[in-house]
Amino acid sequence: MKPETLAIHVPQKRRDGAIAPPIHLSTTFEHGPASERLFEYEYIRSANPNVNDLESRLARLERGCGAVVFSSGMAAGAALFNTLQPGSELLFHKDVYFDFKNLAQTLLPNSGLRARFIDLRDEDAVDRALSGKTALVCFETPSNPRLEIIDIKAISDKAHRVGAKILVDSTFATPALQNPLALGADYALHSLTKYVGGHSDVQGGAIVVADQPDMVEKLVAVRTLSGGVLSPFNAWMLARGLQTLHCRMEKHSANALQIAQMLSRHRHVEQVRYPFLETNPDLTIAKKQMSAGGGMLSFELAGGREAALRVASEVRLFINATSLGGVESLIEHRASMEGPGSSAPGGLLRLSIGLEHPDDLIEDLERALGKL
Ligand SMILES: *Cc1c(COP(=O)(O)O)cnc(C)c1O
Repeated sequence: MKPETLAIHVPQKRRDGAIAPPIHLSTTFEHGPASERLFEYEYIRSANPNVNDLESRLARLERGCGAVVFSSGMAAGAALFNTLQPGSELLFHKDVYFDFKNLAQTLLPNSGLRARFIDLRDEDAVDRALSGKTALVCFETPSNPRLEIIDIKAISDKAHRVGAKILVDSTFATPALQNPLALGADYALHSLTKYVGGHSDVQGGAIVVADQPDMVEKLVAVRTLSGGVLSPFNAWMLARGLQTLHCRMEKHSANALQIAQMLSRHRHVEQVRYPFLETNPDLTIAKKQMSAGGGMLSFELAGGREAALRVASEVRLFINATSLGGVESLIEHRASMEGPGSSAPGGLLRLSIGLEHPDDLIEDLERALGKL
């Protein structure tokens, strides 16, 4: 079956004929007098039918041996780092989701883990940085906020040669546009809060595991003990989101490409970063590993920080807000959002392109740019 069909049809028996699955809110399930298991479930922190349903859907779409979902994308990442031995080294691409950088610099040292940040697109730097101590190589592709593309297969081959595992944060691409595990990665991370939820109203995260069933068990154990559990209602919402993901990503991508093309021709715009833009230096790799460019893009204004803030304050349809992946288009001055430690250029604006008609979005941006 094709992924679009897999996202909708689940090999599961409908007990009462209902087409939409029920939400199981019960926190506990009956057992025998000496705690004998009578049913499949016991206590909500360990497992829940809606959580397990979402996990099997994600594992099938990402072609993994299993998936483990968490209360947020950060909880998912933190759980994976929690499985590493003290003394291990993590290698991150330098353009990384801001809070993963914060986590790596402030909390991971307490667990005896060391993180380094390099440009994973620089082959020599990768060769120099990888060693027997490297436990995990972590990167987003496309990255945030620069939309850089990392060659998943090339990095996986190199990292595997020294015995390291690869974690790809595929939040921007989603399982609809990119399958990191099929390209050699060991784990795919998703902030389900973004495109999988798709309507800016539910939080969740996932790690999908390529082919280590023991890691699935370990991650479930970490979740049970640290408590970053997804609620049944959120799991239900996210499973519903997955069913329309392919169709939404097609439209997000088509809209974003049109806007990237308009911006790249604009006299006030210095650089547009969008995976499938014809002038993107990473275009070849992007096309090799993604089926469309997705809904995220960023651009830099020739007028720097001041011009960026002016455009952000002049837009009417785009909403100034963080996060991404919803039906409504958002604009964000990343450097302001990330604060003093940010490495985002002052003139950079990040756009999450929604599902509105592209003409309206283009008109809004052209009018705001016209004020410069
Ligand atoms: C939002 C995001 C995260 C964190 O996810 P939460 O659900 O907010 O915890 C991680 N990686 C990327 C790329 C994100 O956009």
